[in-house]
Amino acid sequence: MDIHLISHLVVFVMSEIGTYYALDFGGTNFRVLRVQLGGRRSLILSQDVEQRPIPQHLMTSTSEDLFDFIASSLKQFVEKEENGSEPSSVRARELGLTFSFPVRQLSIHSGILIKWTKGFAIEDMVGKEVVGLLEAALVRSGLDMRAAVLVNDAVGTLALGHYDDADTVAAVIIGTGTNACYLERADAIIKCQGHLITSGCMAVNMEWGNFWSSHLPRTSYDIDLDLESPNPNDQGFEKMISGIYLGDIVRRVILRMSQESDIFGPVSSRLSIPFILQAPLLAAMHEDDSPELKEVDKILKETLEISEVSLKVRKLVVRICDVVTRRAARLAAAGIAGILKKIGRDGSGGVAGGRGRSDPEMRRTVVAIEGGLYTRYMMFREYLHEALNEILGEDVAQHVILKVTEDGSGIGGALLAAANSSSSVDNVQ
Ligand code: BGC
Ligand code: MG
Repeated sequence: MDIHLISHLVVFVMSEIGTYYALDFGGTNFRVLRVQLGGRRSLILSQDVEQRPIPQHLMTSTSEDLFDFIASSLKQFVEKEENGSEPSSVRARELGLTFSFPVRQLSIHSGILIKWTKGFAIEDMVGKEVVGLLEAALVRSGLDMRAAVLVNDAVGTLALGHYDDADTVAAVIIGTGTNACYLERADAIIKCQGHLITSGCMAVNMEWGNFWSSHLPRTSYDIDLDLESPNPNDQGFEKMISGIYLGDIVRRVILRMSQESDIFGPVSSRLSIPFILQAPLLAAMHEDDSPELKEVDKILKETLEISEVSLKVRKLVVRICDVVTRRAARLAAAGIAGILKKIGRDGSGGVAGGRGRSDPEMRRTVVAIEGGLYTRYMMFREYLHEALNEILGEDVAQHVILKVTEDGSGIGGALLAAANSSSSVDNVQ
C-alpha cells in the first residue's frame, strides 16, 4: 500500500472569514463549490455547488484540454456566483483543489501525479505538478484565482468530518473509486521522525485502492478485468470494491454463463461491451423488490439485449449482483476494521492497552464516508454494516458511527483552503 502524508493540516484555526472556492475533481463528475465562512467553528454561512459530468473524451486527452475545460467551467461558475460584482476583498480568490488520484504531495499546495486510476489515462500529466497545470489554465482563461491547497478527496472528507464532529478519526470514499484516510499520531509516522513534526496528529492518505494481498478472494473475472483495464496490476483492492468496476464484474459473470450454457439464450453482443452495466443499474437490479423483478427484466432486455429473461433467469442475475456486491462491501468493512485496529479503536484497548474486546472505555468513534456506492446503494451499505458488526462485535460496533458527509471532499477542500489561505498562513505550523 502506498502511504502518502498530507501536511499537518488537521488542526483548524477556524477564524477564517470570507468566500472560498473548491474544485472537486476525480470521478465521474466534477464539482465546483463556493463556501462562505463566518469566522467561528461550524460557521459555514452558505455553500453553492454545481456539478458537471466529465466528457468521456477528456479522460484520455491531454492535460491542457482537461484543465482548459475545468478552468472555463470554474470561470462560468464564479461569474454566475459573483453576478458581475467585484470580489469583496482585494486579495485574489482562493481555491481548494480536491484532486482524487494518487499524488506525491510536495507541499500543502502542490503535488505530482503518480499515476491515473478509475479509467483516466492522460499520459502527458503523469509526473507533472497538478496545481501548476491548473493555475496555467486559470491564467489562460483570465480567471484571477490561486490554489491555496491541494488535497485528496479522502483527506477533504476527513477535514470536513473532523470540523463537524471532533470524534471523527477516519474518512472512507466508496464511489467511482475507493480510498481511506485516517488520523495518526505524528510520532508514530516514520517519515516524521527526525523532523520537527513530532507532536499532534497527521492525516495519512492510505491510497487503499492499491492494497494487495494474495489472501484477497480473487476470481478469474477479477483477473480478466484487471488485465483489460488501462492500469493492469494496479488498484487491486479498488477493482474488487468500487463503483466503476462492480457492474463490470457482473457483466463478465453473465457473459461467461451465457457462453457456457443456453440459460440466457443466444449470446448477446452487448455482453461484450466493457462497462455497459454501471453501478446504478446494478443497484436497481439488486434492489428490485417487485415480485416479477420488473426492473431486472427491463435492464436485461434494454441494456444487455438478452432475449431469454424468465423469472428463473432474473432471479439468477439478482443472485450474481448479490454475491459481487456483498464481497465488495465485506472487503471495504475489513479495511475500515483494519484502520480502527491500527489506531486502537477496535475495542482491543488500543496499542498500549489490551483490555480485551469489550473495552469499557471504547470511545465514540466516527468514520466519515462519502461516495455514491455507499450513499446510494442500500444493499451495499447494509452488507458493509453487517460485516463491520461481525468483525468488531456488536458491543464495539455500537460505538463506531459511519457518518455520511455530503460534499465532504469539496467543502473540506474549501475549509483547508481557508485554513491555508494567504491571510492565514500564520496558522499553518
Ligand atoms: C484514487 C484515490 C481516491 C479514490 C476515491 C482512487 O482511485 O487513487 O486517490 O481517493 O479513488 O476517489
Ligand atoms: Mg468524489
